[in-house]
Amino acid sequence: MSDQGPTAQLVEQCRTRLHEVLPELPRTIAGFRSALERLRGRPIRVVVGDPGDLALPTGLWLQLRHRDIVWVDRRTSPMHQVVIIGHEFGHMVCGHEPQPVDGKELTGPLPAFADQQLGLSAAHITAIMGRCSDLRSWLGRADCGSGEQEQEAEVTGRLIAEHLLAELGGGLADLLGEP
Ligand SMILES: [Zn+2]
Repeated sequence: MSDQGPTAQLVEQCRTRLHEVLPELPRTIAGFRSALERLRGRPIRVVVGDPGDLALPTGLWLQLRHRDIVWVDRRTSPMHQVVIIGHEFGHMVCGHEPQPVDGKELTGPLPAFADQQLGLSAAHITAIMGRCSDLRSWLGRADCGSGEQEQEAEVTGRLIAEHLLAELGGGLADLLGEP
């Protein structure tokens, strides 16, 4: 592939799937979160936090036994935060599952992150989706999410972000605010 950007066909596939999974597209992040909670049958928490000195990707999807956490780096711009949240939600819309992990064996900054940012032990984390290069070092193996899945999530996430930004009346702060 000479062009690294998504093809028109991929964009169309992702658009069709998004409207199949969520026929009434929510108008806010909280609305998407609720719709995806119903779809997945488990609570989803969106956490915007500052990782401090920890080397983390700007967005992560962490699966715990009975709930999901989408974490976003607070130091990115509000616009970028919407795109990052859209990307992680995009994985869920596409039916991707994060990489299963044994939280007890996690290395790198993950245990400190779980403790400081989320107030939970890394042992509670059962699966992770994040940028591949970071995951490799934490999981100690190479089989992280495929490039195809990342591209689907990226396209779907951008469709979600575009939709949210088009619906925007009250400013980005309203969009990012948790109900
Ligand atoms: Zn991703």
